[in-house]
Amino acid sequence: MSQVLELLEEKFGYQTFRTGQETIINKILRSEDCLGIMPTGGGKSICYQLPALMFDGLTVVVSPLISLMKDQVDALVDMGISATYINSTLNYQEIQRRLGIAARGEVKLLYVAPERLETSDFTELLRHVKVDLIAVDEAHCISQWGHDFRPSYLNLAKTIRGFSPRPRIIALTATATPEVAEDICELLSIPLENQIKTGFSRENLAFQVMKDQKDIFLLEYLKMNKGQSGIIYASTRKEVERIYRLLHHSQFSVGMYHAGMSEIERSRNQEAFAFDRINVMVATNAFGMGINKSNVRFVIHAQMPGNIESYYQEAGRAGRDGLPSEAVLLYSAQDSQIQQYFIEQSEANIEYQQNEYLKLREMNQYAHTEGCLQKYILKYFGETGSDCGRCNNCLDDRESVDITIDAQKVLSCVKRMGEKFGKSLVGKVLTGSKDQKITQWHFEGLTTYGLMKEWTQKEVVQLIDYLTAEEYLIPSKGQYPLLSVSDKGIDCLLGKKQVFRKQLVVKQLVVDDAL
Ligand code: ADP
Repeated sequence: MSQVLELLEEKFGYQTFRTGQETIINKILRSEDCLGIMPTGGGKSICYQLPALMFDGLTVVVSPLISLMKDQVDALVDMGISATYINSTLNYQEIQRRLGIAARGEVKLLYVAPERLETSDFTELLRHVKVDLIAVDEAHCISQWGHDFRPSYLNLAKTIRGFSPRPRIIALTATATPEVAEDICELLSIPLENQIKTGFSRENLAFQVMKDQKDIFLLEYLKMNKGQSGIIYASTRKEVERIYRLLHHSQFSVGMYHAGMSEIERSRNQEAFAFDRINVMVATNAFGMGINKSNVRFVIHAQMPGNIESYYQEAGRAGRDGLPSEAVLLYSAQDSQIQQYFIEQSEANIEYQQNEYLKLREMNQYAHTEGCLQKYILKYFGETGSDCGRCNNCLDDRESVDITIDAQKVLSCVKRMGEKFGKSLVGKVLTGSKDQKITQWHFEGLTTYGLMKEWTQKEVVQLIDYLTAEEYLIPSKGQYPLLSVSDKGIDCLLGKKQVFRKQLVVKQLVVDDAL
């Protein structure tokens, strides 16, 4: 048996590696820096913990999740692996004591927050101890193009370059688009070919997108899933409180979590959820980093998050135990406006904001696609896959209807308006609105003016959203995207491509009188 397999069994108690682990470990042992992209629960920790045991020197684990460090270190110590952590929860004396232990080579692994590496204490430590490996956990936080950029990661690359001799580097993340992965590699000088991706697909998750009637859906869903553990995410504290009251009033076993609550209340609620004293947690995205609850059966987003990365990460908290679980997005156009507002209010530079708008657009498209939802997410992360057969689009047995003519009306209108306007004005032209802007731009003279006057404006906008999700239309970057027609759209206009859409049926959820 190879030495790594022996160690895996002896120290960690596992007989086989999970996908990707052995490849990553072998690369590190050959002193090749690498980036591991594995889904949450995929087993990233062993990728650096096992090599750490084979090196003489120290392995430094950089992690932004201060609240998790203690648990991780405790787990290692329980397995008989010497490890410690230093972070802001410890007092000065304790930090000095732990640095001393590390300097004497008495621990194999040292967990630190990124900003800690820049302190003089740490530089002093490095004079005494050889660092063989640096593991950068949650590595997407280093990229400005990621969804969770952290300024504390900003100097990480520079600090690591200052280590002498240069240690091996392993970066790990569960969420990185191809652009973010490339950025991480570039910033940490990891060869691009040393990316190990194990696949983002979560076979036990069934994705769903629902539109309209959110509250009724929530009440019905919880009634049907009584006793199951789940998380309901909303974007604002106010909405979390509103949903909490709604569900609490209806006698469901719920708790609440957002950053505006006191530390004591938050940890009390988190614990109640962790130990199944309450079934459902209504929360903002402040709830999540570090929840390790395996039996979460559903994650419902009552409001849409700002990008696919956040969505997939949050939705992925369902079904860590591998059992069938659901991830539901309740979509409404207003929620997209809330996310736009967040972007507008952020003090980030224009380029960063533009990128955020782009991400929001992809999130909107997810809500409007009629293709496989899992496949849409995988494509976003640069992976191909076949239809999952579980999401509500795959299971949608409504008939597909040929809507080529309607699509051509929309595409032709966009062309005739010079590809300089957004979906709402296109909708107005097609429905023959008398809006002031129409006269201002003389659009009432267009041949497409009023061409769909039997449609409501909302229906036309939904069709535009669908055509955008299916890439017949391309929205520009920015807050108010302007539409242009893609090559695929041109083929449709030329009659070379047919467009199909599932027949629209207004679904009325049956609501119990008691509700
Ligand atoms: P991640 O950091 O990727 O979310 P972890 O490293 O915390 O995941 O691992 C998730 C779970 O999988 C842990 O309980 C871990 O002990 C377990 N695990 C890791 N590697 C293996 C393996 N080779 N065989 C069985 N279980 C494993």
